Amino acid sequence: MKIYKNYISFGEENILWRKNGVAVIYPAESCGLDCIFCSLNKENPGYDMTSGELAEWILETHADSVEWCGTPHPEEAYKVVTAVRKYMNKPFILKTAGIDSPEYLKNGIDEFFDIYLPDIKFADKSTAERLCGDADYPVKCHTALTEISEMNSETIYENRILKKGVLCRHLQLPGELQNTLDVLSGYKKYFFNSNWILNIMSEYTPPGYRKNRQPLPENLCSLLIGSEHQKALDYAKLLKIKLL
Ligand code: SF4
Repeated sequence: MKIYKNYISFGEENILWRKNGVAVIYPAESCGLDCIFCSLNKENPGYDMTSGELAEWILETHADSVEWCGTPHPEEAYKVVTAVRKYMNKPFILKTAGIDSPEYLKNGIDEFFDIYLPDIKFADKSTAERLCGDADYPVKCHTALTEISEMNSETIYENRILKKGVLCRHLQLPGELQNTLDVLSGYKKYFFNSNWILNIMSEYTPPGYRKNRQPLPENLCSLLIGSEHQKALDYAKLLKIKLL
């Protein structure tokens, strides 16, 4: 299997790890989108690792949890989870762009992954088309989250670490406040009654790697300003959305 990168992250949400971090695995072709602000170098051919080698690496890290990014190679992911589980019982997280098909979600996520970590990126077609090239993103995301809401009802914490449940992420983009407010309105409307947690992420940084890519629009060339993020947090509070 081709891997873009595997590393230990100490930057994930603090409910996902304690002191040893999260073992993150990015298989190649991991997300199915083409966001214009993506910081991954998708021309990087990656390197080969077998499921056995990945399992061995995870065990050596003693990480507090394991994050599998993206939905390709489900059978490889399941092999890794099975191999690791023989030796340690840590939460396995499936991080995705939020557009997984219901078929994929029905076939294994409950059995192999404890935590679903989807993005909710864009609320409307034109923003999605403009920023990730897929106008259907909002519909696909809604379909995936609806499927998950029907499957994964339990939220379990142990010593303030999430062991099972759903944590949604929305990366707020500079100059795109209306999109963030619309994402929050949709989340409130459709998923408010779930016991999920939402993280409105403010850590956007313009990507450094731009080879063979179209120039970024001006608003995406800077960091998110604090006042813009505060407006999003205030709106989420108004809607009584449970934030991280
Ligand atoms: S979802 Fe978008 S930003 Fe994330 S890896 Fe895929 S293309 Fe890049």
